[in-house]
Amino acid sequence: MASKALVVGSGAVGLRTALELVRRNVSVVLRAPCSPLDPSNTSQGAGGLWMPFHCDDPRTFRWAQETLNELLPMATRQQASPHHQESERGLVEVVPAVYLMRNHGGPTVEHFIDHSYEPRRGQSTETLALPGWTKDPRLEFQHLTVEMLSWQNIINRLKIPPEEELKQAGYLYAWFFKPPIVNTSAMLTHMLNELKEAGADVNVESGHYYSSLDEMRNEAAQLDCDCIVNATGLGAKEILHDDKMVGARGTLLHYDREDCPRRDVVRDGPYGINGTDAVIMTEEAPWGSDTLPCYLIPRGKSIVVGGSYLEEDKEPSIRNCIVTGMAGAVGR
Ligand SMILES: Cc1cc2nc3c(=O)[nH]c(=O)nc-3n(C[C@H](O)[C@H](O)[C@H](O)COP(=O)(O)OP(=O)(O)OC[C@H]3O[C@@H](n4cnc5c(N)ncnc54)[C@H](O)[C@@H]3O)c2cc1C
Repeated sequence: MASKALVVGSGAVGLRTALELVRRNVSVVLRAPCSPLDPSNTSQGAGGLWMPFHCDDPRTFRWAQETLNELLPMATRQQASPHHQESERGLVEVVPAVYLMRNHGGPTVEHFIDHSYEPRRGQSTETLALPGWTKDPRLEFQHLTVEMLSWQNIINRLKIPPEEELKQAGYLYAWFFKPPIVNTSAMLTHMLNELKEAGADVNVESGHYYSSLDEMRNEAAQLDCDCIVNATGLGAKEILHDDKMVGARGTLLHYDREDCPRRDVVRDGPYGINGTDAVIMTEEAPWGSDTLPCYLIPRGKSIVVGGSYLEEDKEPSIRNCIVTGMAGAVGR
């Protein structure tokens, strides 16, 4: 085990790794060109939804589970006693989530009830399998038809579009689960403070970008560090000349959670005003697509609405974008 580590990068990965090292009694020197809340830092702009997305590496399931192990107790502690730990307030919230689909390959609960499920010809059991993370019982994951979602909603009273509207749009199935949502900027600040309180040597305003691993090695040697953690996110693509790393542009709109004019989404249905906020997602048309995924994430005082997923689009500034179905419905 290292005794002193140079951690480069103050995004979610750098801060979290630095904290893990401190907890294992490793001295930490954290260096980053700008504050975690700087707009150039991807982590501060993330939606904060826990759900493996665009990842097919089997290791993702374990990593995602480990993250869940951290986040769920934080949310529970907060719910059980809002004043339990003042510093953890508002960091994580468990919010019911509905992921809408036009088609799906696997069985629904309905099929299990009437034993009617038969795989399509040529479909292997592999392709039918739901992603590994859906099996975690803490998420209370269910695979439903929209009718079943609608029956359940008599009890759940979620602010989601009514069944007729979903069907009209072509959404016939839904995943229903309960993921944690992280208030990203609050969490980054919380982790940075925890590091400082633990005595880490922190400089996240240097303005200095490392151009190579050698430059990091030299700095580590000067600081007596016997380990380097390269947590520079997409920056690592340049540092390591790694063409396999591909970035994607995302655009999110933030609405005030209290005053959000969401009448078009909830249609003033019976649960519109007194219902429970829910995450709503779909990747498929008509409300979304591969490049314009459609999601709405209630988080802290905001409703975060997205989005876009434009691979290799490197433009750092905001530009006019196509507004997706959900954003259009919310913002109209
Ligand atoms: C719009 C959008 C929405 C997202 N929503 C979600 C979501 O809901 N849930 C989810 O799990 N994920 C989401 N993500 C993905 C998530 O934001 C990233 O996976 C995560 O932030 C990556 O964290 P990181 O610490 O690796 O990188 P970053 O946050 O980018 O941090 C990199 C750090 O390295 C520093 N750095 C970069 N280059 C150098 C260099 N050469 N020298 C020194 N320092 C350098 C940067 O300044 C920064 O401090 C979303 C991403 C986007 C774009």
